Amino acid sequence: MVKPYVMGVDIGGTNTVFGVVDARGEILYRGEIKTGNYEEAKDYLAALAPHLNELIEKAGGKEKFNGIGIGAPNGNFYTGTIENAPNMKWAKGTIVPFAKMVTDATGIPCVLTNDANAAAMGEMTYGVAKGMKHFIMITLGTGVGSGIVIDGKVVYGNDGFAGELGHVIMRRQNGRICGCGRRGCLEAYASAPSMALTARELTEHAKEKGKTTLLASYDLDKLTSKDVHDAALQGDEIAKDVFRLTGEILGEAFADFPDFFGALLAPVLLVFLDFVPTIFPPFYLILIMVMLIISYLVLEPQVGLEPTTYGLQNRCSTTELLRRTTKTIIAESLNKAKCC
Ligand SMILES: [Zn+2]
Repeated sequence: MVKPYVMGVDIGGTNTVFGVVDARGEILYRGEIKTGNYEEAKDYLAALAPHLNELIEKAGGKEKFNGIGIGAPNGNFYTGTIENAPNMKWAKGTIVPFAKMVTDATGIPCVLTNDANAAAMGEMTYGVAKGMKHFIMITLGTGVGSGIVIDGKVVYGNDGFAGELGHVIMRRQNGRICGCGRRGCLEAYASAPSMALTARELTEHAKEKGKTTLLASYDLDKLTSKDVHDAALQGDEIAKDVFRLTGEILGEAFADFPDFFGALLAPVLLVFLDFVPTIFPPFYLILIMVMLIISYLVLEPQVGLEPTTYGLQNRCSTTELLRRTTKTIIAESLNKAKCC
């Protein structure tokens, strides 16, 4: 029997999205649930599996499916396990054989990998990285993930966890504690919860100095990156500072990443902007300007940031806006560099 479909499942720290996809990459059916704060993996699967089975039935039954592909934080492609994922209670400090659990629940073979690696493969097959052989995929969300592609292959390394760039140390002096247990990691400053933490710190400081900010009207313990985003769009200076600081540290990190595979050959850096429904546009400008400045403006035109085009999330208009802005800035910066 012809098996025309696969099921894709993207497990994020906050949301889980899934869809039935055909060989051309068209998403035929899709769904979404909250990843939730379940104590145990079996409880999370009990919430997810009925939704997957419903879509499977809608598409004609499990006989129509080649397989299920799952992208998950700390997903191990070699073993099909989710290992010590700090942002999900049910996978924190434990190893969950999730691919096997999904196969048991659906009757369909399942493979699993790190979410950023899955995003890299998706973009390479159907999206903005189509035809590219060397690039890094960065995912910004509840954590900061990355998937490195060299010679058209995702790099998995010795244990399946190669290329976790969210945990490069950016601040060695008094660095923030990261979910991985170390101090000063990029993720401790640039994930969505880390942005909220920065906002809390800056708001407390602003209060002490007698400065006004829209953020002061929120319950600071419950402040989210979405709140900061909304305040920034309303022109709040403290909220804009949060984006500036986050953009700067991401820019610092990104400036180093292309060197992994020879910055002047054919590297492209991708960013998966997903930590707020839309994103405060100047954030992106700050990020890329810092990256360019630190790289001494010697980057080749093909080195840049590209918001992704493929995925189960819908982020079209902002993505288009950011894409145009990014390209303009890169072009202007390179022109300036040439005349100096
Ligand atoms: Zn870390």
